[in-house]
Amino acid sequence: MSAPVRFTSEWQRCRVVFGSGARATLGLELDTLGVGRALIVRTPGRTQSVDEIAAALKHRLAGVCALAAPHVPANCVAAALAEVDRVKPDGIVAIGGGSAIGLAKAIALNRSLPVIALPTTYAGSEMTSVYGITDGGQKRTGRDPRVAPRLVIYDPDVTMSLPAAVSAASGMNAIAHAVEAMYAAGVSPIATTAAAESIASLSGALPLIVANPGNADARSRALRGAHLAGIALELATMGLHHKMCHVLGGTFGLPHAETHAVLLPHVVAFNAPAASEAMAGIAAALGAGDAAGGLRDLNASLRLPHSLAQLGFTVSDIDRAADLVSAATYPNPRVASAADVRAILTAAL
Ligand code: NAD
Repeated sequence: MSAPVRFTSEWQRCRVVFGSGARATLGLELDTLGVGRALIVRTPGRTQSVDEIAAALKHRLAGVCALAAPHVPANCVAAALAEVDRVKPDGIVAIGGGSAIGLAKAIALNRSLPVIALPTTYAGSEMTSVYGITDGGQKRTGRDPRVAPRLVIYDPDVTMSLPAAVSAASGMNAIAHAVEAMYAAGVSPIATTAAAESIASLSGALPLIVANPGNADARSRALRGAHLAGIALELATMGLHHKMCHVLGGTFGLPHAETHAVLLPHVVAFNAPAASEAMAGIAAALGAGDAAGGLRDLNASLRLPHSLAQLGFTVSDIDRAADLVSAATYPNPRVASAADVRAILTAAL
C-alpha cells in the first residue's frame, strides 16, 4: 500500500503567454502589468532576437544590461544594481536562460522590482521564486516571492538559435528538477503531475532537437516541458542531487547544466531503493524499464558529457565536495552519509 496523501502548496500569481511569435506581445503585456519603462537583462554577446525585442519596446525600453553570468556572481549583481539605480526602471525583463533570469531575480531581491521573463533555454527558472547568488566560492540559494516572475512569455522561436549541446544540457537540468520533485516529501499532486508530463515532453523532444536543431515542433514541446519542470521545482523542495550540483557549481566552478546531466543517473540509482513509486513514475515518463538506466540512456542519446572528470572535477576534489554536501541540510528520500556522497562522486568521476 502507498503512503497516505499529505501535502502543502503555495502559488505565486504569474501570467504565462506561450506560443510561436508570443514575443511580439511583450510591449502590450508590460502596459497591462503597469510597467512603463523596463530594463532588459541578458548575457553578453549580441543575438539578433534580443536586439529585435529591445527595439520593439520603443519608449518602454529603459536600457539593456548585458552583465548576466553563470551562477549569478555577486560582483555582477552589484554592477547591475548600479545600472538599475542609474536608469530607474519600473521592471526588469530577463531575456535568456537561467543566468539572465537569475540576475533579474537578484535585482528584484534588492530593489523589489517586478521580473518579466522571456526564456531562451529550457532551465525553467522563470516559473520559480528560487534565487541563487555566488559569493566567495559559495552559492547561496533561497526562496522569496519578490523574485518570482510576474509575467512569462514563452516563444519557441527564440530558442531556435540555442545550440544543440546547450539545449540538451539545459533540458537535462529541467528534467533533474522534475525528477527530484517526483520523490520530494509532502509534494503537491500538481507538482508530480507536472513533473511526469515534463519528463515525457523533454525526453521525447530533446533527442529530436539534437538530431535537428531546426525542428520547430520539438522546440515547442521542449519549452512546454521546461515550463512544467519549473512549476514542479517551484512546488517541491529539491534533494541530494541539487545539493551536490550546487556544491560542484558554486565551489568547484563546474558548468551547471552539464553537471546535472552527469550526476542525475547516479543520484537516482542511490535514491531508488527508498522511492520505488516515484522511480516507477520516472521510468514510465521516460519510456524506460528503470529510472536511472533511462536517464543514462537519454544522456548518451543527447551526446552529453558522461563523467565529472570531463567537466574539470578531479579525484582530489572528492573529499572536500563530500564534506560540503554533508555539512548542509536538505530533504532526500534516503539519508546520505559523507561516505555515500564520496561513493556517488567516485562513480560519476
Ligand atoms: P545560461 O543562462 O547560462 O545560458 C547558457 C548559454 O547559452 C549562455 O552563454 C547564453 O548566452 C546562451 N544562450 C541562451 N539562450 C540562447 C539562445 N536562444 N540562442 C543562443 N544562445 C543562447 O544557462 P541555463 O542552463 O539556461 O541556466 C543555468 C543557470 O540557471 C544556473 O546558474 C542555474 O543555477 C540557474 N537556474 C536557476 C533556477 C531557479 O529556479 N532559480 C532553475 C534552473 C536553473
